[in-house]
Amino acid sequence: MNDYIQSVLSEVRAKNQGESEFLQAVHEVYSTLGPVIERHPEYRAARILEQMAEPERVVIFKVPWVDDSGEVRVNRGIRVQMNSAIGPYKGGLRFHPSVRLGLLKFLAFEQVYKNALTTLPMGGGKGGSDFDPKGKSDAEVRRFCQSFMTELYRHIGQFSDIPAGDIGVGSREIGYLFGQYKRITGEFAAGVITGKGHGWGGSQIRPEATGYGSVYFAQEMLATRDDSLSGKTCLISGSGNVAQYTAEALIKLGAKPVTLSDSSGFIYDKDGIDGEKLAWVMDLKNKRRGRIAEYAEQFPGATYAPSGAPDHNPLWDIPADCAFPSATQNEISGKDAANLLSNGVIAVAEGANMPTSPEGVELLLGAGVLYGPGKAANAGGVAVSGLEMSQASQRQQWSREQVDEELRGIMRAIHEQAWSAAQEYGHPGNYLMGANIAGFRKVADAMLDESAV
Ligand code: NDP
Repeated sequence: MNDYIQSVLSEVRAKNQGESEFLQAVHEVYSTLGPVIERHPEYRAARILEQMAEPERVVIFKVPWVDDSGEVRVNRGIRVQMNSAIGPYKGGLRFHPSVRLGLLKFLAFEQVYKNALTTLPMGGGKGGSDFDPKGKSDAEVRRFCQSFMTELYRHIGQFSDIPAGDIGVGSREIGYLFGQYKRITGEFAAGVITGKGHGWGGSQIRPEATGYGSVYFAQEMLATRDDSLSGKTCLISGSGNVAQYTAEALIKLGAKPVTLSDSSGFIYDKDGIDGEKLAWVMDLKNKRRGRIAEYAEQFPGATYAPSGAPDHNPLWDIPADCAFPSATQNEISGKDAANLLSNGVIAVAEGANMPTSPEGVELLLGAGVLYGPGKAANAGGVAVSGLEMSQASQRQQWSREQVDEELRGIMRAIHEQAWSAAQEYGHPGNYLMGANIAGFRKVADAMLDESAV
């Protein structure tokens, strides 16, 4: 890493103390940009790295709501508007007790590069709350969402900032949020939020897009080695939106997903999770809102293990060809990556954001595994959100086939950009470096064109 980047990183560390995920994300991107900064002194002159590490704006607000027993509860809401050089801020909302400013800054920072890679004109943002929808009644979730939007509505808009879902924010929450926006403003602004239901302005394939996209990205990576997903045994973590549709796409392509998890533990089904079993999981998670442990009671061939190991997750120690981490950040430790490698994994496509720790990434790259970083592999979700915005502007709805075809094309284009940038800068096959460089250059050039100072 060159001296200039070292000095930027130490400045970022000093300014953002305690924000460990944000610091990890900035380090992961900037440590790969040395060759670009050397070739393009104009980025250094305009202090583009320093500027990109600073949000353009952060809004923090209280979210008071009333629970079912009549008690008043207060949560914190945050929206990080990170970078608008290539388009309006775009990025999801996360409702989870772990949500803090630093966590959302990491997600917003990643979103800037990811959105640039989609080829669509979207800047980066992220938001959320420390509210935990788990264990809450529908009425409590509704009251919380309405209170959250009562403040957020004044900071968003179809040409300024367009939120969507993320952990803890699925179609139910998007419905309540959009309904409240409509109630307050008196406008049916279909372009102000994405992930809407198909009957009221949502896009076909949006629920599927992140999971399908990460599988399409894995297909592209495997194709560079004349290989495919057909017949491959695959590990998936999580059992939410991304995990479910990753499993669905893998089943369609003839692969065999064998695991799913939630924050309590994971299931291993050595016979494979087929379409029928997956439909049962979708009902369990999306309607009955149950725990993944119930899978092993329903399907006797499967086993369940609670989580608990401090430094590793036994899910990643199951022999498999491919891994699709689709739950949360830093869920593959160095030890997990070593276990994946010793069991012969050949490809890792990140459905989640930053699911692999820095030690894990180093091991996977060092071993020459096909490693698709989240900002490339999971960009399908925001890409179809971009297509939902296009459909809202046109006042049209495209067919399922059309959106899926667009998604495939976008995932191919993301792969191509990451592949070519890695090649151009002397690290062929290093998708992490390629994705970082390609995303950075697009945003940095726009910042220069718009006059960064
Ligand atoms: P969901 O809320 O639908 O599902 C999240 C899943 O991950 C659940 O099974 C949840 O278990 C599990 N999980 C969450 N936190 C933890 C934790 N700390 N430890 C273990 N398991 C955990 O979210 P999504 O599927 O939408 O998101 C999953 C990942 O994909 C996130 O990293 C998100 O940022 C990323 N992503 C999502 C996109 C989207 O379109 N939805 C787009 C791009 C990236 P439990 O129910 O027990 O909490």
